[in-house]
Formats: sequence, structure tokens, C-alpha cells
Amino acid sequence: MNCSLFRKEIKNVKTLVVKTGSRILTADGHVERVKRLVEDMAALHNSGVRVVLVSSGAIAHGMKALSLGKRPKAIPMLQACAGIGQNRLMNMYQNIFGEHNILIGQVLLTWDDLRSKKRYLNLRNTFFQLLDCGAIPIVNENDSVGVEEIQFGNNDTLGAQIALLVNADVYVNLTDVGGLYDKNPRDDKSAKHIPVVHSVSSGIQKMASDKKNDISVGGMSTKLKAAQIVTRAGIPALIGDGFDQRLLTVLNNENCATLFMPCEKKMPSRRRWIAFTGESAGNITVDEGACKAIIQKGKSLLAAGITGVNGNFKIGDMVDIFNIDGEIIARGMANFTASEIELIRGNKSEQIEEKLGAVKFNEIIHRDNLVVL
Ligand code: GLU
Repeated sequence: MNCSLFRKEIKNVKTLVVKTGSRILTADGHVERVKRLVEDMAALHNSGVRVVLVSSGAIAHGMKALSLGKRPKAIPMLQACAGIGQNRLMNMYQNIFGEHNILIGQVLLTWDDLRSKKRYLNLRNTFFQLLDCGAIPIVNENDSVGVEEIQFGNNDTLGAQIALLVNADVYVNLTDVGGLYDKNPRDDKSAKHIPVVHSVSSGIQKMASDKKNDISVGGMSTKLKAAQIVTRAGIPALIGDGFDQRLLTVLNNENCATLFMPCEKKMPSRRRWIAFTGESAGNITVDEGACKAIIQKGKSLLAAGITGVNGNFKIGDMVDIFNIDGEIIARGMANFTASEIELIRGNKSEQIEEKLGAVKFNEIIHRDNLVVL
């Protein structure tokens, strides 16, 4: 899809994940800002779009309640702020969505919930059921047990993971600037806005300025990382100004946001989980021949090409595949345990039966369960 077509098509999206940063939700004038955001989400919802909101702001609301002017450094204090702030945040959403007669459903989760295949599937069911009930799920990291986003990313990557989980058509990351600029627009008036990015290359990443403020963490580089994840999975991303502009303006006006085009068609959900979410339990190193077969020909991984195994993984666990230079080339789900692979690595299929007694699978990782990175 080309980008101008994308802008027109945006009205036809079925599922939208919107992520809001803490400043939008707590800085001066926040109630009016949230009202406008909810109004636009309600309009989308009422026109049949399934909307999921990933909302930061628990810590920032807790800081306000505790009269803290600066973000605390100690993690337990951040967690205490989140505990105090999360229900205030939800109370605000409850009141404003209530004015539109729209139900909301709170989903708090940690990264471990996403990395575990079983919990991931449970979460998917919860999201789809909430959406089927006509509710808008509002997601945040469960800060009292998980600390990853409060340290690094202000929910940017969590939002990307939710976009993958619910199979979104667009991931919209609302922040306080109108997307990506070639220089920091706050320091340099000549900074040029970049309306479209076709691939999040290292050149694009260098443009990210990471100024943190007193309220939130996670500058442009975590937003770019999040955009990279979803676009590689085939989902377009928008990073746009949700501070001075409305959500619908960010969706429709290219001056208020940067559009990140998807790299390919949407990946099926199992492959998305393998590539971007699941946690690997070990790794396998392969020789040059196997490397080529996997990358260039899309083949399965056979024992013959394996030169090393690391970790103590079981059948069905996810493993990283490294080339001989130690670079990751693919990830997939193993048909054999690490100790079985250690016994049969470098062997041809006929020899495997001799060593293991029986052969359940010809492939160590079948190509359907393998994603090239
Ligand atoms: N879960 C955090 C919150 O809601 C993310 C944002 C942050 O670390 O500031 O506050």
C-alpha cells in the first residue's frame, strides 16, 4: 500500500491500538485533553472500529497525589506512585467514557505474561471478549510486579506488543511532538518534519532525540523501536502529537504525525509471537550452508547443519538461531530437547534414528515454526 492510499484507507481500519504518554494525561489542561481524546475514540468506536487504549500515567497521577514535583528514582517508590495513581487514572477514564456510555475494561499485565505462550493466549481471549462486549480495553503495565517499562520505555514497546496481540491495523503512539524530525524541534527551529518513514533504519534511529522530562521516561528512540517491531510484523505505525492535536487529526493530517509504513504483509499471529514476543530458552548455532538454506530458501533447520547448542530447552520451547559469527538470524520452536540436539548435531537424518532410537520429526525446527529475523 502506498502512503497516500494508506491515509485514505485509515478510515476503514477495523482495529486500532492507541498509546498515550504520561504528559498528555497529567500536564496542565489534561482533563480537557483527555476529553478530546475520549471523544475521538468514542467516535471511532461508534463507527465500528475496535479501539484498544494503552495508557501510561499511573506513576504521574500518583506523583501528583503525593505532591512530588520530580519523578522518583527508586523503583519501589515508582511502584507506590503507580499503585496510588492507577485507580485515579481509571477513575478519570471511567467518568469521561461514561459520558459517552462506553464501557471500559482494565487490563494490567507484565512482560512475563506476554512471553509465556499460555498466558499470551489467555490475554488474547480476554481482549477479544472485551471488544466483543463493546468495551474499550485500557492497558497498562502492572507496575507493582513488573518494572521493565517504568525503567525504560513509558509503555511504548508494551503498546507495540498489544498491537501484535490484538492484530491491530494501525498502532498510534501519541506523544507531545508531531512525530519524527531531522533534528530536535525543541532546540532547533529549522528542524524538518518527516511525514513518512519506509523503514526504521539506523539512519532514522540516529535522528531520535531522547530528552527525558520530570514526568516521564522513554524518548523518541523507544518509540522508534516500537514502530520497528510493528512495521516488521506488517502493521503500520503513527507517532504523532496527542498533546496539542486531536487523535483524529493525527490519523488524517500528515503534518501532525510520522507514518511508518509496514515492511511486508501482516505476519500470522503465531509467527509474530515467535519473532517479537516469546522468550527464547536457548540457542543453536548453524553452519554457513544451513544459514543460507534458512535465510535464502526458507528451509527448515536440520541436524546436519548444527554446530552448537546452548541452554536447557525442552520440546516446543523457543530458541534463537545464530550464524557462525554469533549473530542472530532466526527464531523458532524446537522439535527436540537441547540434550537430544547435542547428541545428534552434525548428523544426517539416518544417523539420528540410531542415536535416539526413534525419530519423531525430520526437522529440528520446521520452517512453519521458524521466523527469519
Ligand atoms: N506504567 C507506567 C505508568 O503508567 C508507564 C509510564 C512511566 O513509566 O512513566 O505510569
